[in-house]
Amino acid sequence: MDRKLQSDPLAASSAARLGLIAGRLCLDFANTASGRGGPKQLDHLRRYEDLAAWAVHAGAIERPAALELLRQAEAAPDAAAALLVRALALRELCHRLAMTLAAGGQPAPADLAGAAAAWRSALATATLAPAGARFDWRWPADDLGAGWLLGPLALDLIALLIGPDLARLKRCPGADCGWVFLDRSRNGRRRWCEMRICGNRAKARRHHERRLRP
Ligand SMILES: [Zn+2]
Repeated sequence: MDRKLQSDPLAASSAARLGLIAGRLCLDFANTASGRGGPKQLDHLRRYEDLAAWAVHAGAIERPAALELLRQAEAAPDAAAALLVRALALRELCHRLAMTLAAGGQPAPADLAGAAAAWRSALATATLAPAGARFDWRWPADDLGAGWLLGPLALDLIALLIGPDLARLKRCPGADCGWVFLDRSRNGRRRWCEMRICGNRAKARRHHERRLRP
């Protein structure tokens, strides 16, 4: 194994340390950018390696498969960059749809068409294979793992849009947060993406404002 892989590019990515708090794969994927709209906006998917690292972190692909993809990407950097562009387009689509729907709005027809197109493209290369006592979708390893990386996300987005979970969709009200999630709490009162981040920040701001008052 070469030295670059020994230093573990998968663990080095900030995408591999993101909170998986959304309760659905496609929403956690939408949350791979943080601080959206604010001065500290940060995109955790800056390179193809980040996409592979996040897919392992989120349980979408196995680690040995991701390492194999990194080897392929090293030999075809332009194709890897192009796949990252496709992934980011799918991520922004997931995020736009989630933000609109969480606010009770109607998605743009072009976004619904985009979701359907991503689903068709994912299924075009998929086969069904046994997975323990049930079956699951499988994609070929070619095309830098385009099927592995994007397929489960596109399918999950459609499953969210046509399923009962949609009623639980929320957006975090934290300032410049932009994360989305499903509220699976029994009383339906989950507010924050992560209490220790946006919740505590809001609490600290309220405390600060109280102290400033005469
Ligand atoms: Zn938040």
